[in-house]
Amino acid sequence: MENNDRRQFLKKSMIGLSGAALMPTHLSLAAGKADHSGLPTRLLGKTGINTPLISIGTGNVTGTGIVRAAYDAGVKLFFSATYYGEGNNEILVGEGLKGLPRDSYVIGTAAIPDGIDKRTGLLSSSFTAESYLKKVEGSLTRFGLDYIDIVLFPFAAKKETVQHEAVLKAFETAKKQGKIRFVGIASHGGTVEALDAAAEAGIYDVAMISYNYKIQNLEALNGSIANAVKAGMGIVAMKTTAGVFRDKSGPAVNTDAVIKWALQNKNISSVVSGMTTVDQLKKNLSMINNLKLTDQELKDLNLAGLNGEPTLYCQQCQKCLSQCPHNLDIPTVMRSYMYAYGYKNPEQAWHTLAEAGLANRVCDQCDICRVKCASGFDVKAKISDIARLKDVPLDFLRV
Ligand code: SF4
Ligand code: SF4
Repeated sequence: MENNDRRQFLKKSMIGLSGAALMPTHLSLAAGKADHSGLPTRLLGKTGINTPLISIGTGNVTGTGIVRAAYDAGVKLFFSATYYGEGNNEILVGEGLKGLPRDSYVIGTAAIPDGIDKRTGLLSSSFTAESYLKKVEGSLTRFGLDYIDIVLFPFAAKKETVQHEAVLKAFETAKKQGKIRFVGIASHGGTVEALDAAAEAGIYDVAMISYNYKIQNLEALNGSIANAVKAGMGIVAMKTTAGVFRDKSGPAVNTDAVIKWALQNKNISSVVSGMTTVDQLKKNLSMINNLKLTDQELKDLNLAGLNGEPTLYCQQCQKCLSQCPHNLDIPTVMRSYMYAYGYKNPEQAWHTLAEAGLANRVCDQCDICRVKCASGFDVKAKISDIARLKDVPLDFLRV
């Protein structure tokens, strides 16, 4: 977005906010002053941070306006990642918060380590504490900050990674150097093992985890969340809308209902929303004032959750990996599919697809797909569909 466009967007954001009937009346809208006192908050574990129940995941954000509007409306936690827009998202978030009192917001980012196998969550020997510290330095430079509040280790799924000596050393060193305040994990799949390992390790303060009404191992996951909270960790939920849309062309899920569902679990301190507009921001902040599900929301929740539709959400359970003779990274391809059709973010879908390293038309070599997906996806059809994105130059997706 050009500077002029950004100013216009910010201006419109402020006008929209100041006249909003849905906004809580206490909110301070003066630039540079966020009054968090009236939004419902929960404690983020041993970090001591009181966070509103809604935080912002900035992966879909294309301008600084919504970042600043979220801050001014009372949002406290801003989550980016080194892989959003090849680092440009961190620059954008840093610009959006520039000049504000440093202790009035919390920045989190997921820094991708060298040598991680994103399919299995295992680290190769190329991972070193030094290489990870360089990743943290890169994020600091892009944000334009002296320290990052929370650094998350992504693709956390395996105990040996979460408790890897070099990972712990990198985090301890960065904390000692004052470059990081808190450390955490981010997990899409294998979350029970990752959470248990993080709680046991003792150095982790935060976990960002996929948590939604479609999760299949909910009882085990809730147990691990409770255990992590007991160990002092703060839990932030992501992917709560489970892809937003029930299928590629079908109706959207009731986002209020599914976010409220996640927040019924008191061990979830905040839900990360990928909001990109002021309307979504207003809607989210209005919703968290009353978490009781209305009759209509309960109906929508049951409709979305219980009728057996696979929706766009891949559980990242990895059960497909051993079934494909071509060893495709199906979970990553399915995430790309969800980003494209659910979150309507083709750029993120493009990057995620690139991570999967899909060969051209590989599924054409199978007459019948041998994969029986745990969520009931027609894996072959979905891969053939999203694989077309590989041929689109990235520049086209940024205009
Ligand atoms: S089996 Fe299905 S739900 Fe599980 S990771 Fe593979 S595609 Fe996703
Ligand atoms: S059709 Fe199924 S089994 Fe064949 S390559 Fe594609 S995902 Fe693998």
